[in-house]
Formats: sequence, C-alpha cells, structure tokens
Amino acid sequence: MKRALVGGAGGFVAGHLVERLKSEGYWVRGVDIKEPEFRPSAADEFVVADLRDRDACGNVLEGGFDEVYQLAADMGGMGFIHSAECDIMRNNMLINLNMTDAAAAASVPRYFFSSSVCIYRDMEIGEPELDEAGAYPAMPDNEYGWEKLYSERLAEAYGRKTGMEVRIARFQNCFGPYGTWEGGREKAPAAICRKVAMAEDGGEIEVWGDGSAVRSYTYVSDMVDGIYRLTQSDLHGPANIGNPEYVTVDELVQTVCDVAGKKVSIKHIDGPVGVLSRNFSHAKIESTGWRAEVSFREGIERTYPWIAEQVARKLSAVS
Ligand code: NAD
Repeated sequence: MKRALVGGAGGFVAGHLVERLKSEGYWVRGVDIKEPEFRPSAADEFVVADLRDRDACGNVLEGGFDEVYQLAADMGGMGFIHSAECDIMRNNMLINLNMTDAAAAASVPRYFFSSSVCIYRDMEIGEPELDEAGAYPAMPDNEYGWEKLYSERLAEAYGRKTGMEVRIARFQNCFGPYGTWEGGREKAPAAICRKVAMAEDGGEIEVWGDGSAVRSYTYVSDMVDGIYRLTQSDLHGPANIGNPEYVTVDELVQTVCDVAGKKVSIKHIDGPVGVLSRNFSHAKIESTGWRAEVSFREGIERTYPWIAEQVARKLSAVS
C-alpha cells in the first residue's frame, strides 16, 4: 500500500485530494494547522501541526512516505491576497522552505507542490495562450504569486540536488463544495454564490470591478485528477491545470443566478480585481490524458446548493 502525506488536508483542495488518494488505495496522513472546518477528513490519520516549523515538518514525515502533496498555504481570494501580503510571504515561504527541506532529508521519492497561475503576468483580453515557459521574464501581479514562483524554484533545486522527483502544478481558480465561502478568504465563485443565496429574488448584489475581468474556474474533482495524474507522470517542470472555458465576472454572476433561479442585478463597486485576463495552454497536463470533465455551469450546479445550505444554516442559527 502506497503512503501519502498531504499538507493542508484540513483545507479545500487537499481535503478532496485525500478522498481521491483513499479511492486509489493509499494510506494517507493529513496535516494542517487546524481541523477541517466543514466535514471530517477522509485521511487515515490527521495531524494538527504548524508546517512553518522545521521540526514539525520532520515529525509529520516520520514513518516514511512514497509521495508528499504540499498544498498547505496561508491564502484566500483577491481581497485577502491584497491585504495580507506580509503574512502570505512569510508564512508560505516558511511552510515551503521547511517542507521541501524536510521531504528531501527524509528521502521522499516524489514531491508535489501546488503553485498558481498567479505567477504569470497580467494579460490583455484576446491574447494568445501562455504556456508554462511564459512565466519568464517574471512579473506576477501580486506577492502571493512571487512566493509561489520562488517556491517552485526551491522545490526544483532540491530535486536537482537530491534526486527527489518534483511535480509542480499551477492551478487556475478552483471551486466546489467544502471550500471557504465567507470571512474574507473566499474566492470569487464562492463569494458570488453566497451573495446570490443571501439576495432576495429581484434584489441587488455588489461585485468588485466593472465585471469584465476574464477567468476560468476549474471544478475541484478535475483539479484533483490533474494533481494525481501529474504526480504519477514523468513530466518535469510546472504544468498549468485549469478548465479551458473562460468567462467574465458578470457571466459568473449570471450563471449563479440562473442556477439559483433568481433575478439579481449587479452593482459594480471598487475593489481588488486582480489581473484583467487569463489564457493558458493546457497542452502539458493534457499529455497525461487529463481533460476538464466538469463544465463551469455543471460545477456551479454542484457548488451553489452547498453554499446556499451553509447560508441558510447560518441565518437560522442567528435568528
Ligand atoms: P485552503 O485555504 O482551503 O487550504 C490551505 C490549508 O493550508 C488550510 O486548511 C490551512 O489551514 C492550511 N495551512 C495554512 N497555514 C498552515 C501551516 N502553517 N501549517 C499547516 N497548515 C497550514 O486553500 P485551497 O484553496 O485548498 O488551496 C490549496 C493550495 O492550492 C494552496 O497552496 C493554494 O495556494 C493553491 N492554489 C489554490 C487555488 C484555488 O483556486 N483554490 C488556486 C491556485 C493555487
């Protein structure tokens, strides 16, 4: 039985990844600074530990692992990324420095690191797609992206030095149930689902920016499938993972309203929007046989009811 350590297993993507690894027959140790918020972990063993600490990283690796999946990060949506730069840079740098060093010292054969398309520069709408080499010359839009880029290089340097097989995915926006949906760290799809769930039919919601920014949103089961295929593959260097279906922020709102069966108007307000546009090549991850199987609309159909239920539960607890 293969053994996997999953960092950040109390969080959104890693929580789903643990389920996938269990279905592949792995023995899994999950680790996170906090217990999972929305449901119990599917891991065989769940350890609460602070991965900024080098000793803690060494301790959680005891027993030996075939694969380490490093998804722990201090992160959130655009509002958080632009307001907590120092926390993001310090905490994530410490987590990645210490986990990469500890994994190499423990002779872990295969190490997966979760990077982000935030490492790319801003793009104009309609620009040809960027492949992975397009990350350089580097000009990420935010400090979260700079830390990810440095941690990619760090993992690759350890791989070159020790022979540890390093796999790096650059995630596009990921969404689905059991992710943060309130509190300031939530990402756009969850925030819009929450706002629509809270709005009256015929009401209005506030949306940051003018609604024209272009993104793609990847349903979590597709992201997890990409992580798993990439880690098992022989592919070296970072690989983009994302749904090749691009929508504007206004189209995101419209889709959520359609799924909710509500008519809601949009009030555009000033706020941190991030880059204008995204357009990435997926040829590398597709060479593993990966395809996005869940359309954006289907993903919203699976996510909105879960967030609407959380909102209803919270409102009934308050009243
Ligand atoms: P998440 O916040 O739900 O999960 C991250 C987990 O890391 C959290 O449970 C958090 O408690 C844990 N963590 C934070 N600091 C820690 C510490 N010091 N020690 C141990 N655990 C700690 O985020 P997510 O959306 O599941 O993201 C997972 C990974 O994917 C992150 O590395 C993130 O940067 C990356 N990523 C996510 C997206 C996305 O759209 N969700 C996009 C690009 C990249």
